[in-house]
Amino acid sequence: MNKLVLNSESLIKVLENKAISKEDILEIYQKSQNDQSELFAVARKLRKKHKKNSVTFSKKAFFNIINLCKDTCSYCTYKAELGEEKLSMMSRQQIKDGLILAKKYRCVEALFVTGEKPEQRYPEAKDWLRKNGFKSTAEYLIYASEMALEAGLFPHTNAGNLEFEELKELKKTNVSMGVMLENISDRLTEKGMPHHLAASKRPRARLKVLENSGKLGIPMTTGILVGIGENMEEIVDSLLAIKGLAEKFGNVQEVIIQNFQPKHDTKMRDSTPADEICFKIIVALSRVVMPEINIQIPPNLSPNSYHDFLQLGINDWGGISPLTPDFVNPEFSWPEISKVDSYSKNAGFELGCRFPVYPEFFSSVSKELRDKMNLIGGKDGLVREDYWR
Ligand code: SF4
Repeated sequence: MNKLVLNSESLIKVLENKAISKEDILEIYQKSQNDQSELFAVARKLRKKHKKNSVTFSKKAFFNIINLCKDTCSYCTYKAELGEEKLSMMSRQQIKDGLILAKKYRCVEALFVTGEKPEQRYPEAKDWLRKNGFKSTAEYLIYASEMALEAGLFPHTNAGNLEFEELKELKKTNVSMGVMLENISDRLTEKGMPHHLAASKRPRARLKVLENSGKLGIPMTTGILVGIGENMEEIVDSLLAIKGLAEKFGNVQEVIIQNFQPKHDTKMRDSTPADEICFKIIVALSRVVMPEINIQIPPNLSPNSYHDFLQLGINDWGGISPLTPDFVNPEFSWPEISKVDSYSKNAGFELGCRFPVYPEFFSSVSKELRDKMNLIGGKDGLVREDYWR
């Protein structure tokens, strides 16, 4: 690459490995409104420096364990109500059957997703759990995670605001876990805003889960949701909060930058999706703010721009399932893995299949789990090609 000539003092600081302030980041953003070339070039350079030409994904099966939820976010189509066709309450047998199928497809990750503590709002959920032999959703997830390991898959649980003891218990079986910060701004919880009826999305509550996962040393996936009514300063504050957590606890394994897409059956159905150029600027800014971190965008939400995002600094496509839909964004099907492979190759990148935990976080995973990973893992810490292809 030719030597970069930059006019932005703040971007020069980034390349010199110097700390940048919130004001610097906002200034980079302002300047990129008319011309993104400097920002994008720096993001590209940082990506190359820290992640070389590799891009990863996780071959997963999505288990929609229970999608009742005690909260209501204005953009959410995942959450179901009793009696709705999309309601999912997976029995033990359904989970077992799903795991067997996932193994047959040579999936690596069993992604377990639930709504926020359904049993606290729906007596029916409480009864269903009791009939299955569990007191809480978290207890069921602990059991399901054990089943996944037995079936030869690696669980990654994303069940909202789990308590400290629940996280601690799940750590025994989950090689990593996830909770999106979404945004650090309290303003989004005010009346008329998307998180008004979602106590679990209050920034303090989310931060507590992330801090607890840090104290427990759980490799954690988090991220931001872009385009739900936040402003740029709030996005920057959110990225800086994640960076702060990563520096303090060292357990943030990846940051998802997710673009909002309106869903027809939600309150925000008429809102506009996140603007593509603005989203690209935010992805590049994320790389500038956190040069070494793993940055992911969901490929099914930006299906026409693979090449662009790889050039902007991402190094992971997240979980891609060959057999289950994305229940959070059901109208966007997963791309075929072979297509992601060829798109990545055409853009000059080598696709690898990772475990739900990135190689640099293996030391946080128990020996017992590592031994299981070694059965399908290669020397580079990724899943062996002859297994996933
Ligand atoms: S986004 Fe999560 S917390 Fe919000 S309504 Fe949907 S399932 Fe519940």
